[in-house]
Amino acid sequence: TVRAGIIVTGTEVLSGLIRDANGPWLSEQLREAGVSLREIVVVGDRPEDLRRALDFFSDVDLVLTSGGLGPTADDLTAEVVASWAGTHMELDPALEERIWAIVNGLRKRIGGEEAPMRAGARKQAHVPVGAVVLEPRGTAPGFLIGASPLVAVLPGPPRELQAMWGDAVETEPLRALLASAGSLEQRILRFFPLSEPQIAATLRELDADALPFEITTCLRRGELEVASVYDEPAAGAYAAFEEELRARHGEVLFSDDGATIDEVIAGLLSGLTIATAESCTGGLMAGRLTDLAGSSAYVLGGVVVYSNEAKTTFADVPAELIAAHGAVSPEVASALSAGARARFGADLGIGITGIAGPGGGTPEKPVGTVCLSVAAPWGVEERTVRLPGSRTDVRDRTTTVALHMLHA
Ligand code: ATP
Ligand code: MG
Repeated sequence: TVRAGIIVTGTEVLSGLIRDANGPWLSEQLREAGVSLREIVVVGDRPEDLRRALDFFSDVDLVLTSGGLGPTADDLTAEVVASWAGTHMELDPALEERIWAIVNGLRKRIGGEEAPMRAGARKQAHVPVGAVVLEPRGTAPGFLIGASPLVAVLPGPPRELQAMWGDAVETEPLRALLASAGSLEQRILRFFPLSEPQIAATLRELDADALPFEITTCLRRGELEVASVYDEPAAGAYAAFEEELRARHGEVLFSDDGATIDEVIAGLLSGLTIATAESCTGGLMAGRLTDLAGSSAYVLGGVVVYSNEAKTTFADVPAELIAAHGAVSPEVASALSAGARARFGADLGIGITGIAGPGGGTPEKPVGTVCLSVAAPWGVEERTVRLPGSRTDVRDRTTTVALHMLHA
């Protein structure tokens, strides 16, 4: 196996000011290339921290770094990697010309004047002696250096990094290294409803820790995801494992090809139209339905009816129904789904009303109580759930429950 490490640099990432997009993206690229990623290390802009991170990865085959290639004084990645690899920086005059042309091109686009050659371009035109240089995708070049490990130095801005990674895999040293990696398969099974304790019990029963591949379970938006990564020799063991999982939880398995419930529903809705009337989710349901490109083929529209008056005015919920059962009730949810369906002339209507919290709960209807209804030509389905978590969790998971009601 080819083993790799990723070093994400930048005080802004370390401090939480921005969220790391490069580690996860590169992780996916490596997995697809069959490379086993050991760790992602985040370091600030201090040279000694980067050096320590490089030392930490001295026993892997490939190290990828992100960030710190800019023209400013705090951008030190190139120098540090060069000296760590036992070489030094040298000015590449042709590269300096190209960077200068890029910088002036940018200046002209915003109406500026051609500037005299400045220190920034000159700094970025320094590359380590012996490196394979990667052409700038912004203004900073990247490079590959060393053999064991091979270090690929990439820029911080995600778009630049992604483009440059595409260039890097075409270079000889990286191409050869990736070619020596076997292929890794990833398989994702998604279940709903299934709890973490339930899947943990199943994995214990199957002695999953002893299996010759990696299994990750994760609860996301209320759905349980089991992701397995295996190499060719472990394919048979994986197949047996999946069969056992299906035997135990097959009836709540809704996706075995990576498709999200949103995508599954989009496929199921072909030929049907849908509309929503939402209270506690405040439009999140309509938002989620329209997240997917092409949703205009089936989403007609939705109303956010937060107040009782809005429910009667815009979704035709009888005021007496609210008075009799309360706004959060299966009866009102069903009136909402019927109202949405009728108002928009849709095949399917979704009605949602609930208590997202943190206030507003009662002993009979605690925070997290949500009543949902799906109205269809063939009947109405109601469901009342008690969802755990914060206001955000409750609202988000409500939309997940609704999608699974459409799936049923
Ligand atoms: P530049 O020439 O833009 O300075 P650079 O290679 O020096 O390129 P950084 O200075 O490390 O890159 O980061 C520049 C900007 O790119 C950051 O301010 C941030 O907006 C974005 N960025 C950097 N690293 C990451 C990361 N890991 N995830 C998401 N965005 C990032
Ligand atoms: Mg920078």
